[in-house]
Amino acid sequence: MRKLIVANWKMHPGTLVEAQKLFERSVRVARTLTTCDVVVCPPVVYLAGLPRVPRGKIALGVQDVFWAEEGAYTGQVGPRMAKSAGASYAILGHSERRALAGDTDEVVAKKVCAALASRLRVIVCVGEIERSGDGSSALFVKHQLQKSIHGVSKNLAANLVIVYEPVWAISSHKPSRLDTPQSTLEMTLYIRRVLHTMFGATIAKKIRVLYGGSVNAKNAAGFLFCGGADGLLVGASSIRPEEFAAVLRSASKLA
Ligand code: PEP
Repeated sequence: MRKLIVANWKMHPGTLVEAQKLFERSVRVARTLTTCDVVVCPPVVYLAGLPRVPRGKIALGVQDVFWAEEGAYTGQVGPRMAKSAGASYAILGHSERRALAGDTDEVVAKKVCAALASRLRVIVCVGEIERSGDGSSALFVKHQLQKSIHGVSKNLAANLVIVYEPVWAISSHKPSRLDTPQSTLEMTLYIRRVLHTMFGATIAKKIRVLYGGSVNAKNAAGFLFCGGADGLLVGASSIRPEEFAAVLRSASKLA
């Protein structure tokens, strides 16, 4: 399966002009890669101001969508709106939205179903807040995943991408708070088993399972090669062009 690298720009950069420059630099690298797929998720207001890149070299995504298409929902953006502004992917259930905007698993599931119904590909984030050595992290992730994709029908499930993002490892970049490829491998295999139980072998094989959490140029290859991840969700390193280019090149070599 081709590796999928997703850039989550979070709330960066500060202006559209800066966003256009940053995007252009990612496009320049993505054009040279033949063996991995790249998705950039900028703040939603920049979507329409970024060029469409031909031949699927780089796709655009949003960092959230609401569950309704239109209505009296001040400040929200519906899936169809995101699509019409150029998005083909939506990140849902990111831990920062769960923590800051109060997105519960039930809310995430409503958004996931609505986004899939609008034919967006949906990147669902799951991960424990703190790691425990007694196996409860795996159970937490299993329940969070089951609840966050509750209601997804088998015929749309292949449009899911699951990201295992241990919350304690996000934006950390401290050696003591970095996950290891070995434990990532255990968790990605476990997630695959959960997907297999929910959707059956044929569909589960089509769902990519990514890793996210302080990925950078140095550790990307380890998570992809030894951690069993089908790709990466990259936050801070995705707004540093040289760093992101190096992440993309490692993924391309390994595909
Ligand atoms: C993220 O935003 O999902 C993320 C993993 O961020 P970072 O790479 O900065 O840890």
